[in-house]
Amino acid sequence: MSDIDVTTLRDAVALPTPATPYQGDIARYWNHEARPVNLRLGDVDGLYHHHYGIGDIDHGALGEPGAADYETRLIAELHRLESAQTNVLLDHLGPIKQDDTLVDAGCGRGGSMVMAHQRFGCSVEGVTLSVKQADFANNRARELGIENAVQARVCNMLDMPFTSGQAAASWNNESSMYVDLHDLFAEHARILATGGRYVTITGCWNPIYGQPSKWVSQINAHFECNIHSRREYMRALADNRLVPQAVVDLTAATLPYWELRATSSLVTGIEEAFINSYKDGSFQYLLIAADRV
Ligand code: SAH
Repeated sequence: MSDIDVTTLRDAVALPTPATPYQGDIARYWNHEARPVNLRLGDVDGLYHHHYGIGDIDHGALGEPGAADYETRLIAELHRLESAQTNVLLDHLGPIKQDDTLVDAGCGRGGSMVMAHQRFGCSVEGVTLSVKQADFANNRARELGIENAVQARVCNMLDMPFTSGQAAASWNNESSMYVDLHDLFAEHARILATGGRYVTITGCWNPIYGQPSKWVSQINAHFECNIHSRREYMRALADNRLVPQAVVDLTAATLPYWELRATSSLVTGIEEAFINSYKDGSFQYLLIAADRV
């Protein structure tokens, strides 16, 4: 498509400003996203995630393949692993007080925000490019009666509507591959209080492999994103007053999720690329926690 009319594009998807045509594409992607793998897993307990799982499969809970309720059990098990992933992220936020404000950058349908509020009792502000996701997250918060503490907005995480130093902690849960890391970490460093904690869980390509592998390129094309390398994360953090406090390689812990998902009716076609790239060492699933200094 040539001659993209950015004005029409903005109106069409109610984009925040400033915005790029790329962000218009991402907003559209998430506004139209309704894959069963995300919705049916969220339906299990009302926590809607758009990220992957970690931890060992509970084969007892799964039961026998072929049993009438096997698919239901499999969905519940995948969902348990997704929420386990969020719990590991929350474990790394450090001590959070009830009157603190947390920021979820790229909050999706808000599952992590709800879990953070339930754990710490504090306020959680989320931002997403997608109107549909923000509405969904805010409806869920209303249903749970926590709308005064948990709020999602449509805005660009490179230009968040928060004052400097407002956040005790902030995170990107599988959302940092949509932006330039230097721009992203400069914005987190601005909104975080000194001594505040930043956490990301992300897939990144492994500099030991050399360059993004064909599997990593497939994942980029599938999600219209740009996966960064582990080296880029470290450099961009260091350049933006964010000092790594923990780096946890979750690659081995996420493989069971992918291998189980690949056997289900919910496959989206990208499972092979994740499994192969995690196995050949070209791709890693990483948690990085950093202190704002
Ligand atoms: N963190 C959520 C959702 C991950 S999906 C979860 O764990 O469930 C990726 C999210 O990043 C989507 O919500 C998308 O709207 C958001 N995103 C991508 N680029 C963004 C940007 N520039 N500003 C705000 N949100 C962005």
